[in-house]
Formats: sequence, C-alpha cells, structure tokens
Amino acid sequence: MLECRSCGATYESGPEEPWRCESCKHALDFTEAALPDSDEPTVDRDDGLWACSEFLPVGREVTLGEGWTPVAESPEWDAQFKLDYVFPSGSYKDRGAALTLSRAAELGVERIVEDSSGNAGAAIAQYAARAGVDADIYVPADAKQSKLDAIEAAGATPVRVEGSRQAVTDACVEEAVGGEAWYASHAWNPAFYAGTETFAYELAAQRDWSVPDAVVLPLGHGTLFLGAYRGFRKLRDAGWTDAVPRLLGVQAEGVAPVVEELHGPGAAGTNDVADGIQIREPARFDQLLAAIEDSGGDAVACGETETEAALAALHERGFYVEPTSAVAVAGLESYRESGTLDGGEDVAVALTGSGLKA
Ligand SMILES: [Zn+2]
Repeated sequence: MLECRSCGATYESGPEEPWRCESCKHALDFTEAALPDSDEPTVDRDDGLWACSEFLPVGREVTLGEGWTPVAESPEWDAQFKLDYVFPSGSYKDRGAALTLSRAAELGVERIVEDSSGNAGAAIAQYAARAGVDADIYVPADAKQSKLDAIEAAGATPVRVEGSRQAVTDACVEEAVGGEAWYASHAWNPAFYAGTETFAYELAAQRDWSVPDAVVLPLGHGTLFLGAYRGFRKLRDAGWTDAVPRLLGVQAEGVAPVVEELHGPGAAGTNDVADGIQIREPARFDQLLAAIEDSGGDAVACGETETEAALAALHERGFYVEPTSAVAVAGLESYRESGTLDGGEDVAVALTGSGLKA
C-alpha cells in the first residue's frame, strides 16, 4: 500500500499504481511498516545490501551482490568516508535501483521508464538488465554519448527529448501515465528511497551500532540524503541505535534551492563541476526540509573552486571519485569554517560516485 504523507490519500500497490498522489501531486511513500520485534540487532553481512531486510518493504528479487560498501578512516579530514562509489554501476544509486527493480519484479512489471542521463540512468538500466525487464531511459537531446554508453550496453534504450530537462521528465511521465510503462524514477519512486535507507543500516552496523554525530552528503534530489535520514530514524525507533545524526547537505552554488529556503539567496556563483546535483526542484522538497529540521541538520552551497580543490585532494589520497562527489568534502570544510561543526564531532562523509565514470 502506498500513501501520500501530504494529504493522507492511499493507493493499492500494483503495476497500475499512480507515480504520485492523484489528488495533490505530492510524492508517494510506503505506508509505515512495523519495526523489527527485537531491539537486538541481527545482521548477516553476507547478505550485503539486504542485511537489514527486516526494515525493507521490498524483498530481494533483483540483485548484483551489491552493498556493504567500505568505510575508510580519513585522518587528513578527521572523518570517516563511506565509499559509496564501490557498487556494480559505480555509484550509490545501485541502492535505490536494486530495490526499485526488485519491486518491479514483485509487481510483475514488464517495462519501465526512467529519466536520467547520469548515474541513476545507468543504475536503473543495469538492474533492469539483471531483472530481464525492458527499460527506456529518457535523456536530454544533447546528452553526451559517453554518458549513454553504459545505458546502451545494458540493453536499455535511450530516448532523446528536445527542450528543457523538465521536457524530458514530462515525456517520460506521459509514457508512464498512459499505462505503457512503470515509472522507475529515482526522484519519485518510493522503493528507491527504501533502497537508500540501507546506507544508514550499513554505516551503523559497521560502527558496531553507534552513529556519528553528523553525516555530510551531496544534496540534489536528496535521494541518498532522505533515505539515510529515514534509515537512521528507523534504527533509533527500533532501539538498535540511540540517536539520529545531524544530516548536513551540500549543494552546488547557483542551483541550491534547499540552502536558499533555509538561509535566503546566496552567492551568484555557479558550480558546473558538480553537475550531478544541479536540481532546481527536488521531488521531495518538503520532506528534505523536515529531515534537516528534525535531525538538527543544515545545507550549504559550494562553488567550483572549492569543489575542484577537494576533488584533487581526494584523488591524491587514493579516493578516485567523480567531480560531483567532491562537494561532500568541500562542504565538510565549509561547515567547519562556519562553525556549524566545531571540530570535536565524530563525522562521516558519503563519497557517492566513481571517478572511472567521469
Ligand atoms: Zn496527496
């Protein structure tokens, strides 16, 4: 069962389910499931992404053996890095894609659509290949061929759409609304966010069920940010951990709607180095703001210069991430400079995409 947490409407699950609330257009979520009975954590790390399956609303139908990404101590930044680029498709998006395609398989879906020319498009295409489901990936007409190679290699079909990024989404949604396909959207599909909850389960387990004081993550649509928040909350509510970390987001200067909502208009700069998080209208904007408020978090915008400097510093220390990922480290430095982090905290940082893709 799906629910709209904005107006309270509910919808039956199935291949014909709506992709957003039909009354108020808000994104949908799973109705809250019961938490595990025992407050004693039980995990088998051989199950990878599915090690905490008691918390997940979807069973393991489609998997490439993903999950349990490494945690590396980083004395240079006095932080722990979770290497969420160590995934079959090279980004954390596999957390969401594994759950989304597993749900598609559960529902008997035969064809999916998604709109993304970036990491999400590649992840969805690869897990659709694993599931044996047809996938059309809608992309801007000017998307670079190099970005489409992974999508095509997996047997998915890129559909080029002229016009704005919104026009790409609109064309994709039209196909889904017409009943021709299931919308496996990384921004809208609730299964994707159930998948990104596993970031929190793994990190807590890897730290012997303690959580950091703060977690710094890139923030575009907020797929990892919101999933991590939900995971940490469920762990605390189940009694497996005793706190929710402060969730600290990092956006790209020039396209930073969450930062503007919290702090007003910022610097007039741009950050095209971090093109992976340039999202003007996050699908779950209200939920992101609520997650920040509830966790005592914040959001900051970083420019190109700091991002490039952080990227070079990461590469020099063996962390071969893609440029967008470097905003998390640039943001960590910014949070310390501003005093949002005073230097005494236990901090974890998500490194989200591999440099081998860039
Ligand atoms: Zn609604």
